[in-house]
Order: sequence, then C-alpha cells, then structure tokens
Amino acid sequence: MKLKQKFKKLATFFYYSLLRNRDSKILFYHDVFSHTSYTKMATSINMFKKHISLINDNGFELVKNIELAKNQILIQFDDGYRGIYDNLDFFLKNNIYVQVFIITSRIGQNGYLSKSEIYEMHKSGNFMVSSHTHNHRDLSSLKDVSVIKEAKISKEILEDIISENVHDICYPRGHFNYRVIELLQSQGYNKQFSSLPGSYFKRIKLIDNVYRRNLVQDDNVVNFKHSLYGAQELLFTNRLKKQYNK
Ligand SMILES: [Zn+2]
Repeated sequence: MKLKQKFKKLATFFYYSLLRNRDSKILFYHDVFSHTSYTKMATSINMFKKHISLINDNGFELVKNIELAKNQILIQFDDGYRGIYDNLDFFLKNNIYVQVFIITSRIGQNGYLSKSEIYEMHKSGNFMVSSHTHNHRDLSSLKDVSVIKEAKISKEILEDIISENVHDICYPRGHFNYRVIELLQSQGYNKQFSSLPGSYFKRIKLIDNVYRRNLVQDDNVVNFKHSLYGAQELLFTNRLKKQYNK
C-alpha cells in the first residue's frame, strides 16, 4: 500500500473514533458484479452484501428519500453500468432502493444498461432513474450553451424512457461551480449531487440544492464502517478545492 493511502486510512480511522456520527448520508458506487465486471470501479456483490448487512446491523435504515437528520442511508450508483441489472434479484428480494444516475449517450452500449433494462428497473419501484448528463463531460469546463445541452438532452431521453419527470442530476467527475448549479437549475434539476463527502443535511458553501455523497465502492468492512459513521468528511476541504472550479 502506498504511504499516502496508509496515511489516509489512519487519518480516517482517528476521525471516525473521534467524531463518529449517526447523521443520515448518501453512499455511492459505480457498479456491482458477480461474474462479469464491466468496470474497474465495480464492487463485488459479496462485499456489497456485507455493506448492506453493516448498515442494518448498525441500526441505520435504507430509504428512498432521506427525511430525517439521523440514521437514514440512501444508496446511489453512477454511470449506468449493467452489473446492477445482472444482480437485480438481490436488490428486489431484499427491497434495497437505489438511485441510478445514467449517462444517456452510453445507453445500450457494451457494459451499460439498455433502454428496456432501465425501464424495467424503474417499473420495479426499487430504482429511481436520474441524470448524469448526456456525455459525462466536466460541466465546469463547458460553455453555458453546452452545459444546457448536456442537461436537456439527457433529461429528454430519460423522461422518454420512464414517462416521468427527471429532476435529479449528479455532476460528471464531481466537478461543478455556481454557474453550473444555476444552469442545471434552469433546466429543471432542483436536486444536484456532488462527490464531496459528508452528511446529507450539511450544506456546501450554504447552497441549498447541492448534496454531499460518500464514495464507498472500494471500502472493505472496516473502512465501510468508518464511512458509515462520517469519517470521509475529513476529506471534504481537500476535495472541495479540486472539484469546485470557479
Ligand atoms: Zn460518472
């Protein structure tokens, strides 16, 4: 293990021991796999099952919508990889609710969910389909007209598939700024998700409609418990510098 990673693990452990909180949080992944893995970012279904058990065993509740300040967890998956569909039974049997952010230009491509799979997942009632833009480009680096295009096209494609409104979006590569927030808001996205870690109700720069999320796809059981109790917040300031581009 690299020294930097070792330090990060040690630091999050101390942070966890010191501040462990039961605040409601979003935990996010990119994919799960049993046999076929479509991305290096995928979590094995066995580890994912362990994460779910830890959530339950520690008295947190998996929810569709976080409404309470404490003890609620919402799970999200980014990019729209197919592994979720391969493991659909697990989600349905255990009634695990997931919000998926789809890159619409990749729908139906190798390793990604198809239109009919997205529709089937939506219909099951266990999945909320949301936007991750059309092309997954860093929005903070695009001109206004291109940001609007990315937002609008993906919204139209998803609404056409599920015949329902889409009003949630998450930022590709986590990058955003105040201009991006306003432009996405103008296209009807009133809930926007960053990749900055922390509790659900903790605001970023006092902005109301932008949420924090904790990436847990590489967590083993020990790290996952730390993330569950808010240890990733330690990384907030450092990531803010990298992901909030003026
Ligand atoms: Zn992404």
